[in-house]
Amino acid sequence: MVSDPTKTQERTATPTRTNGNRRQDGRSLKDARPVLALSPERIEPVSGWGKSAASTSHVYRPATIEGLRGLFRLARRSGLTVGFRGTGNSYGDAAQNGENILVSLSRMNRILGWDPVSGVIRVEPGVTVERLWQYVLGDGWWPPVVTGTMRITIGGGAAMNVHGKNAWKMGPIGDHILAFDLLLPSGEIVTCSRENNRDLFFAAIGGFGMLGCFTSLTMQMKRVHSGLLQVDALATRNLPEMMAYFERHLDDSDYLVGWIDAFPGEKHLGRGQIHRAVYLPPGADPDPAGTLRLEAQQIPQTMMGFFPKLWLPTFMRPFYNNLGWRMVCAAKYMASRTLEGLEGKQYREPHAHFHFLLDAIPFNNVYGPGGMIQYQAFIPHTAAEATFSRLLALQQEAGLPNYLSVLKRHRPDPFLMTHGLDGYSLAMDFHITGRNRARVVKLAREMDDIVLAAGGRFYFAKDSTLRPEVVQAYLGADTITQFQALKQRCDPDGLVETNLWRRLFT
Ligand SMILES: Cc1cc2nc3c(=O)[nH]c(=O)nc-3n(C[C@H](O)[C@H](O)[C@H](O)COP(=O)(O)OP(=O)(O)OC[C@H]3O[C@@H](n4cnc5c(N)ncnc54)[C@H](O)[C@@H]3O)c2cc1C
Repeated sequence: MVSDPTKTQERTATPTRTNGNRRQDGRSLKDARPVLALSPERIEPVSGWGKSAASTSHVYRPATIEGLRGLFRLARRSGLTVGFRGTGNSYGDAAQNGENILVSLSRMNRILGWDPVSGVIRVEPGVTVERLWQYVLGDGWWPPVVTGTMRITIGGGAAMNVHGKNAWKMGPIGDHILAFDLLLPSGEIVTCSRENNRDLFFAAIGGFGMLGCFTSLTMQMKRVHSGLLQVDALATRNLPEMMAYFERHLDDSDYLVGWIDAFPGEKHLGRGQIHRAVYLPPGADPDPAGTLRLEAQQIPQTMMGFFPKLWLPTFMRPFYNNLGWRMVCAAKYMASRTLEGLEGKQYREPHAHFHFLLDAIPFNNVYGPGGMIQYQAFIPHTAAEATFSRLLALQQEAGLPNYLSVLKRHRPDPFLMTHGLDGYSLAMDFHITGRNRARVVKLAREMDDIVLAAGGRFYFAKDSTLRPEVVQAYLGADTITQFQALKQRCDPDGLVETNLWRRLFT
């Protein structure tokens, strides 16, 4: 349990009385705010979820806005910068601020207001998606956008403008944020919405924490009439088949996601498995009160009823090489082909199972000391099939097939630094070892060129390998200039930074 930094260690510099009501540092005694100081106990190693690159920071976990303000003052006094962190589920360096101050928002985690009639909720930034859905489900609501893990915070999700398996239909999380408070490094709080401070509203959402710190967010939840989803699972023989299925079902689905086996080529290139889900309409669930209870959403901690999922990474480790993983993927595909077939299998499944089944498996531990990187490319609809085919073939040619590919459909959105577009994304996980790191980076550069040529985009939540010129090319000079101008307005002294910002924008 970490203590409140505003109450303990950081109150180390006690005001010194010198001449009546002034202190040595010139502050008035009336200005009796606690003064924080850097302390060696705060130095911690930090990495992204992919564990492919670590750094060391002064890590603070304030519980209050005043605590946050104190950290800005500390940064100014110490000549350091401040970066924000939710629960560190970004894959790369977006939530790291090496050699500087890193502020974890995980303790600012109160629900500030909830209206079960309108479904509007106001939360502090450190509330996780897990806490959010568990809080609202019993009243018949579900977050309109959830990610593949429920461990992220709402602040971190807003900063990256995360998307779910319904991105083509519901857009990113920002489309459901009604308002937020943003704490600027000056200590001022700016309230932003579609009506007030519009430019900041559309830039701070997706602004990867560079304009200030979200201190509260107001969101609209989605009404649900059951704790269950109606799911279809089916195998698809190649990428064109998978994408054709997506296109056929855009109108009659609520969620669509595809897993791709990245190993086979030619006519099997892009074979995989689709999960499609729809909400149950009112009256379809005979026991909605029962299925909406948290007990009915418990994610199983075992596989096949006996094998603990926690053990899976250790069990799978011998397979984490191209040959072993090719066999695992082939087995997964064949199981889907046999059990679900090309026509598919239908069943009902609790929301939490459908979205967060992988949370029970710490699969970022499988990869060993080199960790993994994820490369997620967003490609316009018309170019998506050809581009993803090219990317998968290129990986095979390089002897670096990715170990997990996930296909999603997206729509454009109005946020300044968006990754969204009318098209598809393919997220691909690469295992990093001491021997292949340089080759994976080279491969990523070749893939960047293919993505850019297709008019594609990238996503800072996943990125570890982009270069400034690639970001310039996909965002465009105008967008970057607008963002830099807002950054200058909100943070004129450049107090807020992360490793990702320094890598790509300075
Ligand atoms: C297993 C897994 C599955 C995932 N699935 C998806 C998915 O389906 N869709 C998707 O879009 N993403 C997905 N992600 C990525 C993840 O959702 C994003 O990286 C998200 O931003 C992580 O939230 P976090 O709370 O961990 O934030 P962090 O990773 O800690 O921080 C993310 C960014 O937010 C900033 N930040 C954090 N808190 C604040 C704040 N209060 N104010 C301002 N800035 C802040 C940080 O500086 C950083 O730039 C997945 C990640 C994992 C590990």
